[in-house]
Amino acid sequence: MASMTNLSIRFCVRLLLALVGAAALMGAAPAGAATLRLNQSMCHAVSSLGTKDTRLPELRFSCTGAPTGYQRGSLWLRTDMRALPAPRGGVALMVHHSRFDRLAVAFSYADGAVRWQQVRQGDYGSHWRTGGQVVFDAPERSAPLTAVTMRFDRLASHELVRAHLLPSDESSMQSAGMAAAVGAALTLLLVSGIYSLSLAVAVRRQYLAWQAAWAAAMLLWGTLWSQVHLAWLPFMAGTVSAQICTFLSCLAIALATASAVTALDRSGVPNGWRRATLGLGLCVGLAGIPLALMRSGDIGLWAELLGFVILADLAAVTLCLIAGWRRGSVEARDFAAAWGLPMAVLAFINLVDVEDGLWGGGSKLLILIAATWQALWLSAAATRRLAHLRIERDHARVAEAQARELARRDPLTGLPNRRGFIESVTPLLDRARSGDLPAALLLVDIDRFKSINDVYGHDAGDAVLCRIARRIARWEGPICTVARLGGEEFGLLTIGMDGIVLDRFAESIRREIAACDHSETIGDRLVTASIGVAEVRPACDFQRLYKVADDALYEAKHAGRNQVALQRHAGPGGPSPDIPDREAALLR
Ligand code: GH3
Ligand code: MG
Ligand code: MG
Repeated sequence: MASMTNLSIRFCVRLLLALVGAAALMGAAPAGAATLRLNQSMCHAVSSLGTKDTRLPELRFSCTGAPTGYQRGSLWLRTDMRALPAPRGGVALMVHHSRFDRLAVAFSYADGAVRWQQVRQGDYGSHWRTGGQVVFDAPERSAPLTAVTMRFDRLASHELVRAHLLPSDESSMQSAGMAAAVGAALTLLLVSGIYSLSLAVAVRRQYLAWQAAWAAAMLLWGTLWSQVHLAWLPFMAGTVSAQICTFLSCLAIALATASAVTALDRSGVPNGWRRATLGLGLCVGLAGIPLALMRSGDIGLWAELLGFVILADLAAVTLCLIAGWRRGSVEARDFAAAWGLPMAVLAFINLVDVEDGLWGGGSKLLILIAATWQALWLSAAATRRLAHLRIERDHARVAEAQARELARRDPLTGLPNRRGFIESVTPLLDRARSGDLPAALLLVDIDRFKSINDVYGHDAGDAVLCRIARRIARWEGPICTVARLGGEEFGLLTIGMDGIVLDRFAESIRREIAACDHSETIGDRLVTASIGVAEVRPACDFQRLYKVADDALYEAKHAGRNQVALQRHAGPGGPSPDIPDREAALLR
């Protein structure tokens, strides 16, 4: 099981490397692609809303500073194609979907022609692509393309605009690569989410349920960000999805925090720390609500503020995990390994601008891959812990069985003790009773054993007991169960034996015990035993049988020892054992 888990961890690592490798390989900027940046390759202008004119208005474009006041109007971004390397073949403009009401794109040609394409909130038509992209293919004309102009109506923030130009064939390849990467990541997230939920139910650990909820939130976020849902819900295109994405990303951080903190509940991390971390996670989750609802205003400022709370939350979780790890918590170690990559990714995308890489999926695709890694790692770690639990449970079961067996056995002779004997014979007697079979209990008590101890010592007495026990053990079989009932008294229970056969059996026992060789311990001293036999038909319970056999043994002792005394009784419904049937025979 443990090797299975190691295999699954190795599989996760390879899968992740493959995903990242594929992403890096296919995400490398293709030849002829150009990332459009404000004031570098794009100039901006702001106008009021409402122009339905298919001609480009005369606007004063500025190529410096930041545009303002466009949230209730239109922001125009214009790229002069003559300033860019000449594209070969058709050109496609890829824009990452964002919060805007409408995006109209004008392709201007050298002959003065202008071709418009547009998408609006709730209707991206055939322009959407998996990976959060909206694609506009420039119509091919004989005249060269001179400019590409984007008009965003009611855009929430110009900082959210990500656009690049690339050859049309590259754009379809990027979309296909992105669809494969997103599909794989979402499938793995779904599987690990279901797995975590099943584990949570199976082992009743709260943190696994939070983990499943986190995977579900990431799955939803990934679906909405990548726009996969537009295949079924095209009306959700644009701002609504972007708003839900904002909320889901905050919720996912809160759920991940809850999962990590609840996993440390048995780790000895101070409750105060855990509560404070949970509080920070809750703040991030709650902050997602107003930020998601915000349609205009300074989203950038709020996002930066939220960034600080997220950083504080991540730092608090890290501190808790370190504290848990130092206290030997396995969960803390697993979470640290699982969180390590997403943290590194967050740090990486803060330091390096990857927004325009990775098929235009940028940081979002990296986050999705990191989340998939986290989900797979946590699932593998939970499986490993489950495997350990199972091994521990198996050991405990073996130890329990051994303890039970020890409690049923006499340590000196190895025979079953009185408790083990009663446990074994009770079902036999029940079966004999229902089958109307006779049962007999033979109580074998060594004669004058105390004097053996007194004369030869306790060790010699022990050796004599063991020698006789070994002889008695040989009578154990399908119809005879043997035990040491205490001190120097042994018991044999037979089912189905009665009358003369039983008499002969008891007699042979007496003889064989007397014939045992104890010369090594007590020289040629004879050791004999008296036997009290209770024969009942049909069988009764052990207590009644024992009482009758004990009475018979008393008789055998009084008759001079080294005797067999037998009492026959009718079973339940027959005469009470307190009024023995004096047909009892002294056989010797
Ligand atoms: P009787 O013929 O009437 O049965 O006489 P007895 O001496 O055998 O009976 P009694 O009940 O007087 O003494 C039993 C002795 O068995 C006393 C006790 O010290 C001894 N004994 C009980 N258990 C053990 C044991 O495990 N090892 C040894 N060496 N002696 C034991
Ligand atoms: Mg005795
Ligand atoms: Mg005794």
